[in-house]
Amino acid sequence: MELAYFEEVGFSDVKISVKASSVPLMIAAYRLASETFDHPLHLGVTEAGPPPAGLIKGTAGIATLLAEGIGDTIRYSLTADPVEEARAGRQLLEALGLRERRGLDLIACPSCGRAEIDVIGVARQAQEALESLQLPIQVAVMGCVVNGPGEAREADLGIAAGRHRGHLFIKGQIVRVVPEDDMVAALVEEAEKLVAEGIEARLAAADTGAQAEADADRAALFAAKGPDANHAAQRVDLIRKTVHDGAAPAVGSPPPAGT
Ligand code: SF4
Repeated sequence: MELAYFEEVGFSDVKISVKASSVPLMIAAYRLASETFDHPLHLGVTEAGPPPAGLIKGTAGIATLLAEGIGDTIRYSLTADPVEEARAGRQLLEALGLRERRGLDLIACPSCGRAEIDVIGVARQAQEALESLQLPIQVAVMGCVVNGPGEAREADLGIAAGRHRGHLFIKGQIVRVVPEDDMVAALVEEAEKLVAEGIEARLAAADTGAQAEADADRAALFAAKGPDANHAAQRVDLIRKTVHDGAAPAVGSPPPAGT
């Protein structure tokens, strides 16, 4: 009815928003709107609340619709500094490949029984050191050299720990091995060179022997912890036994003694 009024007076520069604070309702409303109108749609989950729950709600609704090709502009409605809203919007568009990355994208492994470092702490230090440089690259912080370089081979640059050393890699290829205490500094130094010189040039400048050193560290770590560093087999046995005995396994139960 409102649209009919606009049409009547010859005003067609209209964008429609059908926000809701319920994510399923918001998604259904925008899907219906996209089938009904040709006008551009402004997406948002309204009154989403403070982060992290507000961020999750906003992302669930907006990302679902954008992935379906629905939506023209977006707005995060967070109970937070508006700068956080703008940052979240930008990062979502970059993550979906709808905007060219302008700044850092730092990824990190969740850590597991193979990690010998505090992955969360190192990732936080790396984020703080790299963020202000505004380098348009993806950087990975990985807990171990056994799986890290392979798991993060899509990252432009990364570092994986092991045997008290950091293994710097570019697109999964080891280029330098540094002492563990220098991991973050080495990452920052290489990130700046990578952006200035490009991937091919930095791969060509890799330390001779770095790959062999990393291979040796990987083999030593693997030998030390074996193929099942996370005691998965024992955990499965414990769950089977507990289920068989009729009691639910306690969340976070340690593996059986002696493993
Ligand atoms: S295997 Fe290594 S890289 Fe993968 S989660 Fe565990 S510590 Fe991180």
